[in-house]
Amino acid sequence: MKALISVSDKTGIVEFAQALHALGVQLLSTGGTAKLLADKGLPVTEVAEVTKFPEMLDGRVKTLHPMVHGGLLARRDFPEHMAALKEHGIETIDLLVVNLYPFEATVAKPGCTLADAIENIDIGGPAMVRSAAKNWKDVGVVTAADQYEAVLGELKTAGKLSNKLRFELSVAAFNRISQYDGAISNYLSSVKFEDEKLSEEYVPERAAFPGQFNEQYLKVQDLRYGENSHQQAAWYRDLAPAAGSLATGVQLQGKELSYNNIADADAAWECVKSFEVPACVIIKHANPCGVAVGANPFEAYSKAFQTDPTSAFGGIIAFNRPVDKAAAEAVSKQFVEVLMAPEFSAEALEIFKSKVNVRLMKIALPANYGDVRNVLETKRVGSGLLLQSADNHELKLEELKVVTVKQPTQQELQDLLFAWKVAKFVKSNAIVFCKNGMTMGVGAGQMSRLDSARIASIKAEAAKLSLQNTVVASDAFFPFRDGLDVVVDAGATCVAQPGGSMRDQEVIDAANERGVAMVFTGVRHFRH
Ligand code: 5GP
Repeated sequence: MKALISVSDKTGIVEFAQALHALGVQLLSTGGTAKLLADKGLPVTEVAEVTKFPEMLDGRVKTLHPMVHGGLLARRDFPEHMAALKEHGIETIDLLVVNLYPFEATVAKPGCTLADAIENIDIGGPAMVRSAAKNWKDVGVVTAADQYEAVLGELKTAGKLSNKLRFELSVAAFNRISQYDGAISNYLSSVKFEDEKLSEEYVPERAAFPGQFNEQYLKVQDLRYGENSHQQAAWYRDLAPAAGSLATGVQLQGKELSYNNIADADAAWECVKSFEVPACVIIKHANPCGVAVGANPFEAYSKAFQTDPTSAFGGIIAFNRPVDKAAAEAVSKQFVEVLMAPEFSAEALEIFKSKVNVRLMKIALPANYGDVRNVLETKRVGSGLLLQSADNHELKLEELKVVTVKQPTQQELQDLLFAWKVAKFVKSNAIVFCKNGMTMGVGAGQMSRLDSARIASIKAEAAKLSLQNTVVASDAFFPFRDGLDVVVDAGATCVAQPGGSMRDQEVIDAANERGVAMVFTGVRHFRH
C-alpha cells in the first residue's frame, strides 16, 4: 500500500505517518512534508523522484503529473487502466493525505496583499484531492487531521479501508474543495480592483459583500417538517458557529426540536444574551411576550411571566444564567416548549426529568457573551437572497437625547435602555412598556404603530398590570402625535423613540403638552 502525503498544516502528520509506516505503508511526499518526515527518521520518497521532474515555479508545480494523477485515477478493476499504468511505469497510490494552502486564514489577516492571496491558492492539492475522491472505490482521501484516527483504526483492524469510509472521505473531500473554492470566489469577487495600484504590495479594498456570495452550511439535523406540516425542513449551521450561538447548543432532553421551536429559540437566546445581568425571555411566535431582569433567574422569570401569563403558555424560555432549583420549580408550573440556559443545576434537571416532553437546551456562554454576535442575516426573496449585517447596535446611555422639557429620572433612563433592548427583538411595529426591569405590555407586529400601542395596553390590562409611570420604547419614530397620545393615555411618563420624522416637532410639542419626558435614540430597530 502506498500513501502520498502533502500537507500545509503539518499538525499531527508525523504521528500519522509513523503509524502508517508501522503498518507497512510506503510513504511518498512533496518537498516540505518529505523533509519533515525524513527528519523524523521515516523512509519517504519525494514525489519529484517519482515524476522525474523537480518541483518548480515556487511550488506552483509539484504534483501535477501523470505519474501522480495516473496512480490516483486508474480504476483497479479496468484491465485497460492497469495496462496503461504498466506501460508507462506508473504505480498506484492508495491513500492520499492532503490539506491545502491556507487560503482562508491568509485572506482573513488584515493587510493581506492580493499577491499573497493569489499565492495561497492551492492548485495541485485540490487537483489530487479531486482525483482521489473521484476514484473513491480504490483510493482513500484524507483532507483533515480529525480523519487520521478513523483511517488508522480501519487499517489496523482490517488492513484496508472499508467502502463506507472511503465514500465518506470522498464526500468530505469534495465538501472541502467546495468550501475552498467558495472562499476563493468570495475573496476575489469582493476585490475592488484598481489597476493603477497593482504591485506585489497592493492590498485591495474589498466590498462588504462579494459579487458572488458562496456560503457553506453544515446540516445539524433534518426536521420532521417546516413551519407547517406539509413543508419539509432541515436545520443547518455555519461551518464555524460563533461561541454561545444556538447552533453550539446541546439538547439534554425532550421531544425533537421543530422548525418553529428553533426559530423561536434563536429569538429568545439572542434576546437574553443582550443582557449582562440575570435575565429571562419568554418568546411566542417569534415575539417576546415577557422579558425581565432580576437578582437571580427565579426573580427574572417570575417578572417575565407576569407580563403576559396567557401568551407564556407553550412558550420558549431562555435564561442567561444557570437554571437553579428555584427557577426550575417556577418554570415547571407552566407549559413550556423549550427551555434554554447556559447550565442547569442537578436539582433543576431532576425537576424536569418527569416532564419528558420539555426540550432542555444547554448552550455554553463565553465570558464575553455580550460581544459575541451573529454577523450576517439572510432572507430568501423569490429566487434571490437578501443579506445584511446583523442588527448589533447597542444603545448607550450617552446616546440618548432628551428632547422634552421634562427630564427622565435615573430609574426611567435605566428602564428605557431595558425597554429599548427588548424592542429590538419585537417584530415591527414594536411598542414596549416597561417598569423596574420588566416588560409591562408588548405590542408587536402590527401594520400601524397606533395599533401596536393599543394592543400593548390591552395586554397589560388583561395581565392586570398597571401602566402608570411606565416607560415606553418604540422601535421606529412616531409619524404623528397620535401614537404618543395613546401610550401617554395608557400611563407612560417617559418615551424612547428614534426621532427623525418630518413631524418630530409635532410629537415633541405633544410630549411637552402632556408633561412627559421623551428621548431620541437616533437609531431604529425594524425587525420583520
Ligand atoms: P510541502 O510543504 O509538502 O512542500 O507542500 C504541501 C502543500 O503543497 C499542500 O498544501 C499541497 O496541497 C500543495 N501541493 C501539492 N502539489 C501541488 C502542486 O502541484 N501545486 C501547488 N500549487 N500546490 C501543491
